[in-house]
Amino acid sequence: MSPPDHATLGSRDAKLPAELDLLIIGGGVMGLAIAYNLARHHHAAMGKVAVVERSYLVSGASGRNGGGLRMQWGDAGNVALMRESIELCRHLAQELNINLWFRQGGYLFLARTESGERRLHRNVAVHEQVGVPTRLLAAREALELVPQLDVSEVRVAAYNPDDGVVFPWPFVWGYAGQAVARGVTLRTHTSVDALEPLADGGYRARLSTGEQVRAARVVNATGAWSVAINRSLGIDLPNHPHRHEILSSEPLKPFLDPLVVDLETGLYFSQSTRGELVTGITLPEPPGLPPSDRVEFGSSLRFLSNVARALTRVMPIARHLEPLRQWSGPYDISPDGDAIVGPSPDHPALIQVCGFTGHGFMMAPAVGKLVARWLATGEAHPMLTRWDPCRFRDGRQLRREDMIIG
Ligand SMILES: Cc1cc2nc3c(=O)[nH]c(=O)nc-3n(C[C@H](O)[C@H](O)[C@H](O)COP(=O)(O)OP(=O)(O)OC[C@H]3O[C@@H](n4cnc5c(N)ncnc54)[C@H](O)[C@@H]3O)c2cc1C
Repeated sequence: MSPPDHATLGSRDAKLPAELDLLIIGGGVMGLAIAYNLARHHHAAMGKVAVVERSYLVSGASGRNGGGLRMQWGDAGNVALMRESIELCRHLAQELNINLWFRQGGYLFLARTESGERRLHRNVAVHEQVGVPTRLLAAREALELVPQLDVSEVRVAAYNPDDGVVFPWPFVWGYAGQAVARGVTLRTHTSVDALEPLADGGYRARLSTGEQVRAARVVNATGAWSVAINRSLGIDLPNHPHRHEILSSEPLKPFLDPLVVDLETGLYFSQSTRGELVTGITLPEPPGLPPSDRVEFGSSLRFLSNVARALTRVMPIARHLEPLRQWSGPYDISPDGDAIVGPSPDHPALIQVCGFTGHGFMMAPAVGKLVARWLATGEAHPMLTRWDPCRFRDGRQLRREDMIIG
């Protein structure tokens, strides 16, 4: 397949069939990974598939994230899923015919408190069971990996050399280009304004252009915006948007291989292939504000000062660093930190693929493949069924994932 070009990155003029077998709402990494995998692996079964994206590609969280990919999770299911995702990433540049800037420099977690130390010990035991090569490191060993760190407060570190980073945009473009080249319709700059259930079990979608399309099945892959579509159908799911900020610095000579995470503050930083430090931090909403359904953007001085304080504490040379760009994007927070994937409560033909909090990008290669298989064959993989959207209504919430960062 030839590399993506303008014609294969979707268009506001792409002609939408009036009747679809599957409508995917949202052209972020999730929607496009599903579309691509359907077209590549299940072409005969997929029928007419369209992705409708209300803005340009990479306008949502998928174009605004830090590109971090790690197997270091607390839950064995998430570790196994991410092992699969990173394995897929090794071949994805070739498969999508686009440079993803995938670099396996590892992830280095630093623990400075007793509880952080316990968390890393617990996680490494889980990783061993799944066969992931995470190692616990003493502070001086962490220093060997990144000599610029101040490890005086570090009690223990955890390092997996197979974790890494990508540049998000080509990832999204690659999925889009190859999906379109294989017969998926990709309509951009068009919003699905309403879904109306039909007597045959499908939906009529009303679009911002005034068009209407009928779809036998619909995937809600609108990330932090998914609440609006669900609410309009009376589907009550507990995920909600959270504005997450991030920045990149002036470029430096390459010096940093792993992505470093300070467990206690939720600070993370990596060096991009262009030399910039890319860094973010856990910054809860100011106290007293109830979670809102509105997706908010914008950058704050509060973030800049918090990240600067945390970064210079862990890596003092950063005090000489100039920030170059600051931006934000929406996390799609679910209460147990795990995704929401599968048929909706009372709406079996509306499939949710949302709630990925701050880690949907890294999970998309594996999730896209498994969801596409589920849609095409009816074969639901246990890695997905644990994320059943009905778990909240039925009181089956998962144990909260221990390693949510940011
Ligand atoms: C700053 C930041 C840093 C992050 N860092 C990482 C990281 O290092 N690693 C990682 O794995 N994850 C990270 N994440 C999370 C990750 O980006 C997301 O989990 C992932 O991109 C979600 O993909 P998505 O396709 O579900 O959502 P999105 O990319 O948000 O896509 C949803 C799309 O739906 C469209 N849409 C919404 N409503 C409608 C409608 N009514 N009709 C049509 N289209 C609609 C939107 O325009 C949007 O393009 C980060 C997120 C942020 C914000």
